[in-house]
Amino acid sequence: MQLRQWAGKYKTLRMEYFYREMRKQIQYLMQGQQPIGGQWNYDSANRKRWSGNPPLPALLKFEKDQIDADVIELVKREFPQHTGHLKHFHWATTRSNALLALNHFIKNSLPNFGDYQDAMIYGVDYLFHSALSPYLNCGLLMAKEVCDAAEAAYYTGHAPLNSVEGFIRQILGWREYVRGIYWVNMPEYANRNTLQHVTPLPQYYWTGRTQMACMTECFRNTFEHAYAHHIQRLMVTGNFALLSGVEPQQISEWYLAMYADAYEWVELPNTLGMVMHADEGLLASKPYAASGNYINKMSDYCKYCYYNVKTKIEPDSCPFNSLYWYFMIKNEKFFRSNTRMRMTYQSLDKMQNKEQIVAHAEDLLSRLDEL
Ligand SMILES: Cc1cc2nc3c(=O)[nH]c(=O)nc-3n(C[C@H](O)[C@H](O)[C@H](O)COP(=O)(O)OP(=O)(O)OC[C@H]3O[C@@H](n4cnc5c(N)ncnc54)[C@H](O)[C@@H]3O)c2cc1C
Ligand code: SF4
Repeated sequence: MQLRQWAGKYKTLRMEYFYREMRKQIQYLMQGQQPIGGQWNYDSANRKRWSGNPPLPALLKFEKDQIDADVIELVKREFPQHTGHLKHFHWATTRSNALLALNHFIKNSLPNFGDYQDAMIYGVDYLFHSALSPYLNCGLLMAKEVCDAAEAAYYTGHAPLNSVEGFIRQILGWREYVRGIYWVNMPEYANRNTLQHVTPLPQYYWTGRTQMACMTECFRNTFEHAYAHHIQRLMVTGNFALLSGVEPQQISEWYLAMYADAYEWVELPNTLGMVMHADEGLLASKPYAASGNYINKMSDYCKYCYYNVKTKIEPDSCPFNSLYWYFMIKNEKFFRSNTRMRMTYQSLDKMQNKEQIVAHAEDLLSRLDEL
């Protein structure tokens, strides 16, 4: 396996280096050994907020055939208590419809994919994401044909480099990389829990009932469509589980139960490694932990929230805020010496009201199910 050979050469297994080797090998967006445009990665251009323009593409819905209808009936009958709704089911279940979904994405969403890749908008389910992961994972689409189609859109001038590079990186980079991480490290990987988190998963992950608007919105999307895009999974539902100290195996079970694209080989490294930092930093050099400030910057969720994103220790303060600093204090022994966390700990050292933040966070954690 290529990742196993590649992994043997390095002490740390960062996706970016694996991705560059794959780009060179497969020659996506390359001029010889150099990336087209001079940069390997255009992520810094891919963090725009979306405020209504450009318009969103229409959602492609497929008519259900008899097999779809029979399976929906079976699920209704056998799993009546299961979280999630069947009435919104719109996925393709045949190769020909999956190809239509691919064409629809390339034509209508890929040009804006890069710019708004990290954005989140209340009531908007897919933005400019592809929603192709279930087809890729169950074999209705091949990774190569999807990347080929995206690269062709760059060469014909239909989509810009930041979108096409960003999209190909998700598949050739992240998807292949996490596949390798899984197969190289299983089965012991599944039990890792570096930060020794033991908090049970709050009930609202199954019911959707919480006063945190960002969480209810990600749950709504998830329950209606068995879908949430990457930033919703990583920086909202995942981030909250990390900051609350949820046991990694419990949140992992939730991601497996919720999504149409859920397969353990891709879900587990994302949850254990990327979200929960439970694998001793094998996958991520620092935790993807963030306060409410990040969610407020990348979305409009806070406008609809009971909580106040600007404060930390008031009764109605955004829970992400005190929990973020509490997480940094509690896990200081793991992160203070990490050079990528230097600024975080410098800010913490200057903070005047640390005791109050700790007290507020401990109060929230003692009634986590009620937030
Ligand atoms: C906690 C957590 C759990 C996840 N579980 C799964 C899972 O079970 N199955 C799954 O396919 N993806 C999973 N992902 C990765 C990612 O969130 C989904 O692939 C993506 O949201 C699917 O939506 P999309 O097709 O619109 O993706 P787009 O944003 O359009 O991206 C294009 C494609 O790139 C691939 N991709 C993007 N990000 C990743 C990633 N981090 N890892 C692997 N592939 C990626 C997917 O195949 C996706 O279809 C998870 C991420 C997190 C943070
Ligand atoms: S205020 Fe906090 S809890 Fe509410 S939506 Fe914003 S980030 Fe989420």
